[in-house]
Amino acid sequence: MEFDTIAAISSGLVPGGIGIVRVSGPQAVKICEPLVRIRAVSLSGAKANHLYYGKILDGETVLDEALIAVLKAPHSYTAEDTVELQCHGGPFVLGRVLETVLKAGARLAEPGEFSKRAFLNGRLDLSEAEAVMDLISSHTELARETAVKQLQGAHSEKIRAMRAALLEKTAYLEAALDDPEHYDLTGYAEGLRPVLETLRKDIRTLLASADNGRLAVEGIKTAIIGRPNVGKSSFLNRLLGFERAIVTQIPGTTRDTIEESFRCGDLVLRLSDTAGIRESTDAVERIGIERARETVREADLVLLLTDGSQAFSEEDEALFVLCEGKKTIVLLNKADLGLAETPEAVSSRRNLPCFAVSALNGDGIEAVLEKIRVLFCLAEIRQQPLLVTNLRHKELLRQAEASLGCALDTLDHQAPEDFLTIDLMDAYRALGQILGEEVEEDLINEIFGKFCMGK
Ligand code: GDP
Repeated sequence: MEFDTIAAISSGLVPGGIGIVRVSGPQAVKICEPLVRIRAVSLSGAKANHLYYGKILDGETVLDEALIAVLKAPHSYTAEDTVELQCHGGPFVLGRVLETVLKAGARLAEPGEFSKRAFLNGRLDLSEAEAVMDLISSHTELARETAVKQLQGAHSEKIRAMRAALLEKTAYLEAALDDPEHYDLTGYAEGLRPVLETLRKDIRTLLASADNGRLAVEGIKTAIIGRPNVGKSSFLNRLLGFERAIVTQIPGTTRDTIEESFRCGDLVLRLSDTAGIRESTDAVERIGIERARETVREADLVLLLTDGSQAFSEEDEALFVLCEGKKTIVLLNKADLGLAETPEAVSSRRNLPCFAVSALNGDGIEAVLEKIRVLFCLAEIRQQPLLVTNLRHKELLRQAEASLGCALDTLDHQAPEDFLTIDLMDAYRALGQILGEEVEEDLINEIFGKFCMGK
């Protein structure tokens, strides 16, 4: 496949020690040659995988002093000829260098296009390319570890092994159906069954940890709800001020939503709609049940705060109803004032975990965090040799599992063998799509379109 030559700023757009403009494609060296002045050599004469000190020029204007590397196909990230200009890390100077490279004939890379090239050139499979983005956006040790494993091919290897087993079985079956005289299917079903059962078991193991794995890696979307004045704001502030908590503010999708994340060891809570909580102190009436309903619907976990020093009110009851079917922890706040009812009594009556806490002095919060770790199986998740965290992979594994189920049904009912080959091939194809085989171009574009600029 022949591609044009693309360029982008591959480092972050904040001032830093260095910043990198990456140029990739068949014309990379030719395009950069007149813009680069290295003592004693021209760029086309430069050795691959060496760093050269030189100047970046726009005509006669020196734009920057830089370290320049030429990487030759296929030994680069994209598997194409690549020139990396390691400039000073100022957004303006990098912008000027990029502009000059574009003027010389490169095209501005789309987000994720370098990685897309790596995939299209066969350097990374799709699961490995997706891991690159996971690694960049990781913010916990578990997320980083999982992404690196996936990038190094641990997931792909497992998927390939499962596909190889399926293909071997299907190939024999097809051959026997085409040429019954030379291939014997007697006893075939008995041999096939354990293979399919093992495959289904392996897939189920991967699926079983997928949901909690994703939450452990991305953070658990947590809603804090409660009627006015029970102490939501105080609790939130106590949590965010908690020992070793790291607070970041991520602008949410809607304008008035701010998501803050709380992190304690490997536990990451994405506290949704905290803007709503903060706002409630001045405008209590604005936080109605409707808003709580929405927050709850989107949450993975609900912390239902009540004023533990008082009996539950009707409003509290309405919130309990709202939380039905959601992972919920009841917090009896203001425990420092004395409790109207013990957490044990509430817990057994409501069939929900319940803790006494005090937003005022922080009592009880550590126990709540420990409960969350247990509810989301964080310890088990850390033990998993292979963690599937990508929703696309999860969906395809589910399809493969269903097809294997159909194949096993066919075996049970001794239905014609052609049914079997259809199901086995369906499972084979679904697994292949995890690696990027037979994936539609639109989907490829969508996946890489979510990558950041310059990656
Ligand atoms: P919100 O409306 O649910 O956000 O409640 P606030 O956080 O604004 O708290 C309402 C009132 O309860 C404030 O006066 C807080 O100081 C008080 N408060 C909150 N948490 C506690 C607590 O744990 N103990 C005590 N004694 N008072 C608290």
